[in-house]
Amino acid sequence: MNSAVMTTYAPSDIAFERGDGVYLFTDDGRRILDFGSGIAVTSLGHAHPHLLAAVHGQIDKVLHYSNLYRIPEQERMARRLVDNSFASSVFFCNSGAEAVECGLKLVRRYHDEMGNPDKYRVITCAGGFHGRTLATISAAMQEKHMQGFAPMLEGFDQVPFGNINELRAAIGDETAAILVEPIQGEGGIHYAEPDYLKRLRDTADEFGLLLFFDEVQTGIGRTGKLFAYEWSEIEPDVVAVAKGLGGGFPVGACMANERASTAMAPGTHGSTFGGNPVAMAAANAVLDVILEDGFLAHVQEMGGYLRDRLAELAKRHPDILNEVRGQGLLTGISCHATNLDLVKAMEAENVLVIPAGDNVVRFIPPLIVAKNEIDEAVEAFDRVCAATEAPAETT
Ligand SMILES: *Cc1c(COP(=O)(O)O)cnc(C)c1O
Repeated sequence: MNSAVMTTYAPSDIAFERGDGVYLFTDDGRRILDFGSGIAVTSLGHAHPHLLAAVHGQIDKVLHYSNLYRIPEQERMARRLVDNSFASSVFFCNSGAEAVECGLKLVRRYHDEMGNPDKYRVITCAGGFHGRTLATISAAMQEKHMQGFAPMLEGFDQVPFGNINELRAAIGDETAAILVEPIQGEGGIHYAEPDYLKRLRDTADEFGLLLFFDEVQTGIGRTGKLFAYEWSEIEPDVVAVAKGLGGGFPVGACMANERASTAMAPGTHGSTFGGNPVAMAAANAVLDVILEDGFLAHVQEMGGYLRDRLAELAKRHPDILNEVRGQGLLTGISCHATNLDLVKAMEAENVLVIPAGDNVVRFIPPLIVAKNEIDEAVEAFDRVCAATEAPAETT
């Protein structure tokens, strides 16, 4: 392929002309079931009429002006996120990495304002993912992402995910915060014991740390609650969201409770595009739908159905598939066969699914997905697993 695009990606040779609901269409008429949602982004599916109307309406009025002036749609979106969460204020940006970056700046600044400028270190978890900027690859410490980019940003300590004792042992005088994903998405749909988040909260309180959840993948309805932390009994101090927030329009946000919010005075942080009127129209429209009565219950029901059906497949193909995990429609299945091969074979069956760490295949459809569409994806996966087994039997 002769492409002038910088070689950071190795894309599959397929492009889409348009989308409708859970389907994408190529210009030569192929219809493809989208169980990747642009990596957990297009929560309302493609061409959702309410989202399109909101974006079109805003585009006709004004595309962009800066945060030097009030942006009413941004104020409205912030108010709604606050009214539906632990937070008391929200900073808008354009991506997940930027949302995490804002939170990382915030936790340092919070302790600085409290008279503890030497408290700046953040504890993170192995297998985590927080984005691809220098700060966020420094935070996640994944070898494959750091390779060749040294030196990393100073100030991160890493502990195993789900182990509260090792986390406590890593706390020192310079520790400012704990940053974790409630469910590790890119790492392979890993979740900790149910009381892990509560013990993180207790530990943060005991040592005067801020508790910072990266909900870039889990947030905005993906797990069947508006935020994944709602599955626990606790509230964090800071949360980063992005992926599903704009339903396909690039939007990120860093949310903070009252105590943490006070650190960010005028001039401490900013973004040219963050909270732009069109982005905010998109985000408000997504929230309209997700907050409708019964929507999150639908996500939970479809998630349960998808996991049940995948678990049947895992029984039928024990040499190919291992364990089904997830919450809501953040679902993955760990594999004995190579996940990338299965993803590729699914593409040939006209179904998009997404690989994740730990040899996992992610099934992360739009949240509007229906049972018959889940059946279609699972039946394709059944065929792919059967075809993957067959050659092995002949050798
Ligand atoms: C995708 C992701 C990010 C990074 O988001 P970008 O928009 O790609 O910068 C950060 N954290 C988590 C948990 C993610 O899943």
